[in-house]
Amino acid sequence: MTIDINHIREDFPALHQLVYKRPLVYLDNAATTQKPKVVIETLVEYYSKQNANIHRGVHYLSQQATVAYEDARCLVQSFIHAAHSREIIFTRGTTESINLIASSFGKKFIKPGDEIIISALEHHSNIVPWQIACEDRQAILRVIPINENGEIITEEFEKLLNEKTKLIAIAHISNSLGTVNPVKEFIEIAHKRNIPVLIDGAQAVPHQGIDVQEMDCDFYCFSGHKMYAPMGVGILYGKEKWLEELPPYQGGGEMIKEVTFEKTTYNELPYKFEAGTPNVGDVLGLASAIKYIAGHGMENIHQYESSLLDYATKKLLEIQGLRIIGNAGIKAGVISFLVGKIHPYDLGTILDKLGIAVRTGHHCAQPVMDRYDIPGTVRASFAMYNTMEEIDVLVEGVKKAKAMLE
Ligand code: PLP
Repeated sequence: MTIDINHIREDFPALHQLVYKRPLVYLDNAATTQKPKVVIETLVEYYSKQNANIHRGVHYLSQQATVAYEDARCLVQSFIHAAHSREIIFTRGTTESINLIASSFGKKFIKPGDEIIISALEHHSNIVPWQIACEDRQAILRVIPINENGEIITEEFEKLLNEKTKLIAIAHISNSLGTVNPVKEFIEIAHKRNIPVLIDGAQAVPHQGIDVQEMDCDFYCFSGHKMYAPMGVGILYGKEKWLEELPPYQGGGEMIKEVTFEKTTYNELPYKFEAGTPNVGDVLGLASAIKYIAGHGMENIHQYESSLLDYATKKLLEIQGLRIIGNAGIKAGVISFLVGKIHPYDLGTILDKLGIAVRTGHHCAQPVMDRYDIPGTVRASFAMYNTMEEIDVLVEGVKKAKAMLE
């Protein structure tokens, strides 16, 4: 099976619009993806017919919504190959998933003088929660440096490990440079010292098959909206043995077993971590997106997006003065670039007027920009619905902008 690109594009209404009288070329997929009709229809269907609060209702709608919500959990479980559905926690997104672990793990396991390791490639969402946890627990944040290509330096990583290291948190794929990190290797190294590893999978889940058991990560976090699902829903996967030990993140309805003014006992997994009315509609939208992706085959998507990356890299490098920031040996469909001395914001603004949506700036990864001593980059990031023709439009757009700005 291969990707039927025309068919796929038909599924995404947002792609068929004009921006400044030009066909939209949407290349900001690392920020968020567009949504296929099936996902949009799932939301309409849910709010038209099923909407009810779940788990406690005896009535028909509540029972229907509960079954659909728990089925979605099982679907996520099989999508990332988790051992149990109780290891799947619904959150608002990657950011909330990481904050949950930073807070709960921090409270239970981090003492003054302990250390947490992240890498120099991280998104702010995988930096700031650990800074907060470290400040709270008087612990120390250590950062693994990257090389000029934008790859984490494994030897430096190993040097940072010691008996005070309590947790390692690393991105699977860098959102700013596209580097695919050898997370399995890092996890093996960490586990030899019994140190748990959290993987920020926000940029990986839409682009390659994920098997959390094979990877052996302790926690894996991702967002629905970057994988064709609605905004406002995400996943925290955690190994059961850890989730059992961690204290709740938020208190409220759903996460309790019994409440008295003297003492509250907590619900079992996964509900212990899902306080309050859940985001049922968006969870069902996420399930719909997973079915959509699975229908096209993760391996097909991965191969197709790799061909987009190769083509775009080759064509962009033909432009004189263009340099790509981040040239890791293994990359996902993200290209960060600069042209001569042109400010990325100016380039992005002209591309926008040509109907081309790219991202400019630091991409919520300011330390990465500091590493290269640049204010930011222009970033084109691909999804399964992008085409080679769109890359040609991007390349022509960059040439035009260059001619105007230089
Ligand atoms: N981590 C990475 C690598 C990301 O790319 C992003 C978003 O761009 C996040 C975390 C945060 O995701 P969200 O804003 O959906 O919580």
